[in-house]
Amino acid sequence: MEKEHNCMYCHAAFDVWDTRLINRGVVGKELRICTSCTDEACNNGKIIQCGACGESFTADVLHDEVICGHSFTACPACGKDVVEGLTREDFENEYRPSRYAVIVQNVNGGQRGYIVSVECSQGTGSVIKKLVEKVNLDSAASITVAEILLEEDVLS
Ligand SMILES: [Zn+2]
Ligand SMILES: [Zn+2]
Repeated sequence: MEKEHNCMYCHAAFDVWDTRLINRGVVGKELRICTSCTDEACNNGKIIQCGACGESFTADVLHDEVICGHSFTACPACGKDVVEGLTREDFENEYRPSRYAVIVQNVNGGQRGYIVSVECSQGTGSVIKKLVEKVNLDSAASITVAEILLEEDVLS
């Protein structure tokens, strides 16, 4: 049977099952290359395979955007992040800043509440650090910190 597809990288002829379609659905950018060129391009980062749907794309059709300080690279096929396989919504939930409710009790009996946001995974230590930077705590007798876990926890 005739080998009817020319690899666009090495230009050798292959049967269709020995090739991969790269940039599927990206107008004017679709490539058909042989499996060994695909492997090589994956290894050197020229082609990135989406962790969510398995389609492969060249780096030039992928665009990073920064969401909550982390880079989100939307897959042109499925729209999820090609590295983590998260939807944009899940990605935002994963990396959005954590919020904490803080109550500072003063030695004179008064108390005051604060909402402190810190990058997630930094924990309560960074909440206190941020508070110290912004608020005079000289007369603080005790500080209570509690994470606000859910949107529903914020009442307005
Ligand atoms: Zn090839
Ligand atoms: Zn995908």
